[in-house]
Amino acid sequence: MVRQAPPSVVTSWLRQGLRNRMCPLCRVAHKADREYIWHFYDEASNDMGVVDEVRRAYGFCAEHMEMLRRIDVEDMKTTLSISVLLADTFAGIVEQLQSLGPGSRFAPARCPACANREDHLRRNADYLLDLLATSPGYREEFEASPGLCFPHFELAWEQARTRSDRELLLAVQRDASRSLLGELREHVRKHDDKYRHEPKGPERDSWQRAIFLTTGWPPPKQSAAEPEEGP
Ligand SMILES: [Zn+2]
Ligand SMILES: [Zn+2]
Repeated sequence: MVRQAPPSVVTSWLRQGLRNRMCPLCRVAHKADREYIWHFYDEASNDMGVVDEVRRAYGFCAEHMEMLRRIDVEDMKTTLSISVLLADTFAGIVEQLQSLGPGSRFAPARCPACANREDHLRRNADYLLDLLATSPGYREEFEASPGLCFPHFELAWEQARTRSDRELLLAVQRDASRSLLGELREHVRKHDDKYRHEPKGPERDSWQRAIFLTTGWPPPKQSAAEPEEGP
């Protein structure tokens, strides 16, 4: 099987994730979310297609609605834009309810921001596997990384096209999990009265990294209200 290096323009989010020592697909998820919510916030008035999707979904899911709320209410300190956006959304919702009868099935579409995120993730899982298979530099960086969070490990595992893709994913995931286990045990050991005098080391936040590895890395600290900078 001939693997081609993905064009660098499509791997910038992944490379940022590797550089920041986090699951590179979590980085992709955060970037895709921000891009989508910002597009909705800024452009919904010119792009009724995006409003239509939200109408058919009867709003965003809780996570994406919260991102929208934070942009307007917390960061812009206004409630005007979110009210306009929700009014546009509800205009469609009211109409949809008009045509829903007691015998019809109520079937909201998926949250369009979630669908957008999944689409980005699927494509990027392929780019990641191609990047690792064709670039020894990034492969080394990945080998020394804290691994993929398990939901994204599952995705990459399912999308792996060769045995060596899976071997690499597995080796990295085993190393990452094993070394975390060592650190967690060390952290627990130092809580024992006998060892309490020992200085705490890098293992002190291992419990937090164990949460990241299981559920995914959190978005960067900066507020959701800052539009994405750079690539
Ligand atoms: Zn992840
Ligand atoms: Zn969502």
